[in-house]
Amino acid sequence: MRKLDYSRRAEVGEGKTERTYYRDIDQASVEQLARVYREAASPERLGIMAALPTKFEPREAFERSYHHATGGKPSPEITGFSEGLSSPAHVSAESPHEVPEITMHERVHQLSHPHAAELLGPDRYEGMTQELALKALERETRSGEATAYPEQTAFAHRLRARCGDGAVETLYFQGDASELRACLDRSLGPDGAEQLRKRLSGSA
Ligand SMILES: [Zn+2]
Repeated sequence: MRKLDYSRRAEVGEGKTERTYYRDIDQASVEQLARVYREAASPERLGIMAALPTKFEPREAFERSYHHATGGKPSPEITGFSEGLSSPAHVSAESPHEVPEITMHERVHQLSHPHAAELLGPDRYEGMTQELALKALERETRSGEATAYPEQTAFAHRLRARCGDGAVETLYFQGDASELRACLDRSLGPDGAEQLRKRLSGSA
């Protein structure tokens, strides 16, 4: 499988169109997820995702798509959205250097188990989505690093360090919270972990 290669960005001005660049980023993201999360992710979801190319749109078109899907106008910091596997993900392409991270984030959303958002709650679900996207991009989260959902992402990173990738990924990709719950029962740490433990206990 290909690894993501951001140096390809340089080729855009050398005969490669933006569209080709985005398509390559999108395909590479799905391939990377299949490789990095092969233990936990659903092969069926990966297959559906691969056949559902992301739509990369200039800001105006992105805002129209967002309005069509949600009835609202996206705030400026919203640069991507997806609705499971019922339709393609949409990525706002006004900042090409941000497209790889946004694309990976939306593709991780699509790969998540349908119950993951409910199990985690909306904020933690976003943070874990971003954490798993950064892992797939082989970018370790560092404190102070600019990323989407910084606090929730840092929390997800600590959870991964505390309970292991397997516990986190089994919840996120398979909707099975038992391993993570057992870990948190063993080691009740900071307040955030306690809150998550309560939420997980309540929704089993
Ligand atoms: Zn998101």
